[in-house]
Amino acid sequence: MNKFVYLFKEGRADMKALLGGKGANLAEMTNIGLPVPPGMTITTEACTEYYRLGRKLPEGLMDEIKRNLSVVEQQAEKKFGDLKNPLLVSVRSGAMFSMPGMMDTILNLGLNEDTVQSVAKNTGNLRFAYDAYRRFIQMFSDVVLEIPKYEFEDILHRQKDVQGVKYDQELTPESLRKIIDSYKELVQAKTSNVFPENPLDQLAMAIEAVFRSWNNDRAIVYRNLNKIDHDLGTAVNIQSMVFGNMGNDSGTGVAFTRNPSTGENLLYGEFLTNAQGEDVVAGIRTPRPIAQLNDEMPVLYTEFSRIARLLESHYKNMQDIEFTIERGRLYILQTRNGKRTAQASVRVAFEMAQEGLITKQQALLLVEPSQLDQLLHRQIDSNATLNVAAKGLPASPGAASGEVVFDADEAERMDKAGKKVLLVRTETTPDDIHGIVAAQGILTSRGGMTSHAAVVARGMGKPCVCGCEAIRIDYAKQEFNIGTIVIKKGELVSIDGSTGRVILGEVPMKDPEISKEYTSLLGWADEFKRLGIRANADTPEDAKKAREFGAIGIGLVRTEHMFMQQDRLPYVQQMILAETLEDRQKALAHLLPMQEGDFYGILQAMEGFPVTIRLLDPPLHEFLPSLEELLVETTELRITEKNPKLLEEKLMLLKKVRALHEFNPMLGHRGCRLGITFPEIYEMQMQAIFNAAARLTKEGYKVLPEVEIPLTIDVNEMKFFREKIEVIAATTMKAANVTFHYSIGTMIEMPRAALLAEELAEFCDFFSFGTNDLTQTTLGFSRDDAEGKFLPHYLERKILKENPFVAIDQKGVGKLMRIAVEGGRKVRPGLEIGICGEHGGEPSSVRFCHEIGLNFVSCSPYRVPLARLAAAQAAISDSENIGTR
Ligand code: ADP
Ligand code: MG
Ligand code: MG
Repeated sequence: MNKFVYLFKEGRADMKALLGGKGANLAEMTNIGLPVPPGMTITTEACTEYYRLGRKLPEGLMDEIKRNLSVVEQQAEKKFGDLKNPLLVSVRSGAMFSMPGMMDTILNLGLNEDTVQSVAKNTGNLRFAYDAYRRFIQMFSDVVLEIPKYEFEDILHRQKDVQGVKYDQELTPESLRKIIDSYKELVQAKTSNVFPENPLDQLAMAIEAVFRSWNNDRAIVYRNLNKIDHDLGTAVNIQSMVFGNMGNDSGTGVAFTRNPSTGENLLYGEFLTNAQGEDVVAGIRTPRPIAQLNDEMPVLYTEFSRIARLLESHYKNMQDIEFTIERGRLYILQTRNGKRTAQASVRVAFEMAQEGLITKQQALLLVEPSQLDQLLHRQIDSNATLNVAAKGLPASPGAASGEVVFDADEAERMDKAGKKVLLVRTETTPDDIHGIVAAQGILTSRGGMTSHAAVVARGMGKPCVCGCEAIRIDYAKQEFNIGTIVIKKGELVSIDGSTGRVILGEVPMKDPEISKEYTSLLGWADEFKRLGIRANADTPEDAKKAREFGAIGIGLVRTEHMFMQQDRLPYVQQMILAETLEDRQKALAHLLPMQEGDFYGILQAMEGFPVTIRLLDPPLHEFLPSLEELLVETTELRITEKNPKLLEEKLMLLKKVRALHEFNPMLGHRGCRLGITFPEIYEMQMQAIFNAAARLTKEGYKVLPEVEIPLTIDVNEMKFFREKIEVIAATTMKAANVTFHYSIGTMIEMPRAALLAEELAEFCDFFSFGTNDLTQTTLGFSRDDAEGKFLPHYLERKILKENPFVAIDQKGVGKLMRIAVEGGRKVRPGLEIGICGEHGGEPSSVRFCHEIGLNFVSCSPYRVPLARLAAAQAAISDSENIGTR
C-alpha cells in the first residue's frame, strides 16, 4: 500500500510534489530545529487517489492518520478528543505551487461541547475557549458544510448589538455561548444534521473538504492564470494548534525577510497582538508594522529576526514567513519563497550575491525573466501636479488610472467593453480574482501589505494601494467618499502603487528609470549567456533604444514600415500602378534616397554591430487603399459628377486593386516572389543599403549590413539574388572607392526552406528563422484567424498545450528548425543562425534556441533585457555549473 501520511520530521524541502510546498517546508523547518508545532502531511497522491475513486477517501487512510496522530499527541503532550488535555489541530491545504488564499484552512479542530470545557479549565479562560469554538464552527461550516459565511457574521453582529459592543474581543463568555448555540441551530436548519461532535469525524470531513477545494472555482481560475497543472492535487497538513489570541503576550503575524516591493534588506511585515491566524491575512483588522514588535516584545523580535536570517540563508531565497506567539513563545507556521515585485526581485538577487549568500549564477536564476517586463512599466510623471486625495499602503508598484468600479463582475464587463477600470473595494477575496485580472489597478480601504489584494496584485504586476482608510465605500450607492469629496462609479481615479497615493482624475505617466542593480545583474547575464541578443528595429530611434537595452545587433529591419510613411506612400503607389518598367523606375528613383537615409540612420546607430535588413516582404496591395473604400469613393464621385478627373484616377486604382486581389494574401505574391517578378524593387533596396554603407564607411564609421531575402523556398531564388547583391555591392564600393563587410542570407520561414536548408546554405552566410510565418505555414493556419476563432478552444481542450504564436511549437516547428540548423551547418559549418519575431523574447523559446545551437535571437527592444536573462539562465542550467560561493 502507498504511504499517504508523513510526519513533519519525515519530510524534506525537495518533496514538494508529494507533500505540497507548505508541507515540505514545515518538514524542512522541523528538521533544522525551528519551533514548528508538530504535525503531519497527507500527500498529494492521496488527493489524486480521492478523485480517482470518485471523490472517496482512500481505504485505510484514516487508520494511517490515527497511527501518526498518536506520535503527534506524544510530541504535543495532548490527546486528540481527550477530556483532560485535548489536542486541537489546524487542517491546512498546500499544493506543490503556492496558491495564496485559494484554499481554506480550518483552525481549532477537535473542539466539541466536552473538549471546549477542558480547554476552558486548562487555560483558566472560558472566554478564550468559547471564542475558539465559535471560530471553529464558523470556519468548519463555511469550508466543509458550505454554509455562507455571512449568515454566521450576521449572528455575531446581532449579538454584539444585543450586548452593545463594537469589537469581537469585547464579547463576554455568555454572549459567545449564545452565539455558539445560534451557530449550531443554523447548521441544524441548513444541513438537517447536528454539528459533528466527534473529533475524528470532524477531521475526516475537513480532509475531504480540502481535497474538494482543489477544484473550487477560484482555485481553477488561479491555476489557469498561472499555468499550473490541474492534475497535481493538494496535500493536507494537520498540525497541532498554537494560539495567538491568548492575551496581550500572544499574537500572530506575517513577515518577509526583505521588502517585497523594493527589495530593501530589512525585515518587512506586520503583526496583530491577541489575534488568531486568519485575522492578519484576511485584512479585517489593519495590522501593525513588524518593527513595532521590537518595542513590545524585544526578545521575541530578536529571536524572530534570527530565524528569518537563518531561513533565508538556508533556502538561498527571500522568505515569506508566518508566525504565532503563544504566551511569549514563538512558533513558525510557514515559510515559502516570497512573492515579490520585479524591482524587488532584481535587487534581492543582486544584493544576496553581493552579500555572498549566493553565487552570480544563482542570483540570475532567482529572477523570473518575464518579470523584467514589469520594470518597464510606467510611473507617474514626477513633474505632474497631482490632485492627491488620500494615501494608503504602497502595496504593488506602478501607476494606474481607470474608471472607478466596485465589483469584480462589473470590472470584467467594463474591461470587455474596452474600458479601463480601477477596482475599488473595502477588501478583496479570492472570489474577486477575475475583477483584479480585468482592472488596471486595485484600491482597498482595509487590509495590509499582505492582504489578499496586495499579494495577488504583486504577483500579477498590477498597481495596488491597500488599507486606504480615508476612503468610505457605499456599495449600495455605487460611490465612495474621501471626506467631503464624492466619487461615483465611472469617474476617473488614479493610484500610485509605489507610494500609496490616491489621485483624482487621470495622471501623466512616464517610462521608468533603470536601477544600478538591474544594470549589474544584466551585465552578469551577458557573462554567462551563449546566445547573442539582437533587437528588431525599423528606425534609428528604435535602434538606439535597442543598444541601450543591450542588444548587440539588429536581427530584423522591416523595410515595409518605411514604405508606409506618409511622405513615401504616394511614390510607393506610383511604383505599384506603373504600367511600364520605365514608369516604375521613375517612382523607385524617388524612393531610393529616402531608403538610403533610413539605412544610414540605423547602420550609424548600431556602431558596427550587424544589422539584418530584410527586403520588401508584404504583398503590394497592402500599400493601396482597400477595395471597399474605393468602391464607396467612386460611387460618390459618380453621383456628384463634380470631379471627373479624380473619378478617373480612382477608377484606375480600383482596377489595380482588383487585379492585385488575392484569395490568400499570406500565401500569395509577396516576399522574394515580388523580387523575382519585379527585380527593380529589390535592386533599389540593395542599392540604398550599399550607398548608405559606402557613405558611412567614408565618414569613418564601421558598418555591417546583412541583406536578407524573405520567404525563399528554393536555392535558385537565392542564387538569383546573391548574384545581384554581389554585383551591386562591388560596383558601389568601386564607385565610392571604399570597402566594407556585408553578408547575404535568407529567412527560413517556409517548411520547404527548412527541409532544403542544405541547398540554400550554399548561397547564404546566415539564416534567420521567421518563426511567425514558419508557425503559420507549418500548422497551416493564420495567426489572426486562429487567435480570433479556434485557437482558444484548442488551448482550453488542451489539444495544443500552448499558443504556438507565443511560445515556439518545439515539437513541430522546432523539428523543422533542427533540420534546418543541421542541414545548413553541414554545408557551411560557420553559418550564423538566428531567429527573429516575438518568439525571440519569450523565455521558453529562448531556451529552445539555445538548446539547438542558434547564434542569436532577436526581439522587440523592450524584451531585450528579458531575452538576455533567459539566455543566461539557459546557459547556466545546462552547464549545471551553478558555481560555488
Ligand atoms: P494559507 O495557505 O492561506 O496561507 P495557512 O494554512 O497558512 O493558509 O493558514 C492560515 C493561517 O492560519 C496561518 O497564517 C496561521 O496563522 C493560521 N494557522 C494555521 N495553522 C495553525 C496552527 N497550527 N496554529 C495556529 N495557527 C495556525
Ligand atoms: Mg499561510
Ligand atoms: Mg515572414
